[in-house]
Amino acid sequence: LFDRFKKGLQKSRTTLAERLGSVFRSRKLDESVYEEMEEAFIAADMGVETAMALVENVRTLARKKRIEQAEELPDLMVEAMSAMLSEADSDMNFAAEGPTLVLVVGVNGAGKTTTIGKLANYYLQQNKRVLLAAADTFRAAAIEQLLAWGERAGCDVVRHSQGADPAAVIYDAIQAGRSRNADIILCDTAGRLQNKTHLMAELAKIHKVAARELPGSPHEVLLVLDGTTGQNGLNQAKVFKEVVDVTGIVVTKLDGTAKGGIVVPIVHEQGIPVKWIGLGEQIDDLQPFDARAFAEAVCR
Ligand code: GDP
Repeated sequence: LFDRFKKGLQKSRTTLAERLGSVFRSRKLDESVYEEMEEAFIAADMGVETAMALVENVRTLARKKRIEQAEELPDLMVEAMSAMLSEADSDMNFAAEGPTLVLVVGVNGAGKTTTIGKLANYYLQQNKRVLLAAADTFRAAAIEQLLAWGERAGCDVVRHSQGADPAAVIYDAIQAGRSRNADIILCDTAGRLQNKTHLMAELAKIHKVAARELPGSPHEVLLVLDGTTGQNGLNQAKVFKEVVDVTGIVVTKLDGTAKGGIVVPIVHEQGIPVKWIGLGEQIDDLQPFDARAFAEAVCR
């Protein structure tokens, strides 16, 4: 797991661990070290607030452990960062019985469809029965793409034609999921944040149908954020939180960016757990989020 994180987060690691490496080597622990640490955190796109809070936590740990040499700081950074990332629980919620319904939301291009394909593959490998629902009926391409992922992963896709009512797709998916004994239903949704009122109405209707047809659902609302957009992703999280009750975040494309630090303020400032991270375009390039492995991968 650690190797996978380390390889996938190589670019973010360069920003932090390698950048700070020279600072830490053979230097006494003084204020300038903390200043450089804060700058490195900001460079990794953690934002000023979280960067400052994290440095404070490292400082507290150093005091408590009476550490005087800067070379011992990477250990403390890992400890402080994984504590901060553990503030929210990253386990997936499952239905006690019957299918678990997962809504996947996010703006177009963030990696929603790809993530659904990867999630399908992940759960299929755990011998779960997986069903996909193409409830982004706005774009014909979105339906096509989900069908392609369904084929690649090896599971069925419930779909209607373009322009159909997304809530009707969810309704059908729940009936199909029940009759086929599905363990998990992964639903793609439209991501037109430009039209917030419309999106809100659409998601509200989906919620209503889901709650009625499958009490307790949706069990998860996963927001997919493009990690390469850094702080912008944080803003998207804020906006989506106003529109829908987001229960977890998937940060994609972390393999291609030095902005992996964005994961930290998502948890610390928004209080939403990061549940998965995308580390590539292939079907198995999705990892359940692990606070410790993440912190080790970018700090050491
Ligand atoms: P959607 O519009 O939100 O459904 O986005 P897509 O799933 O179509 O993804 C948009 C692009 O991002 C595609 O080219 C994907 O291959 C790419 N992508 C998605 N996730 C990842 C990831 O974790 N890493 C990389 N490198 N590319 C990704």
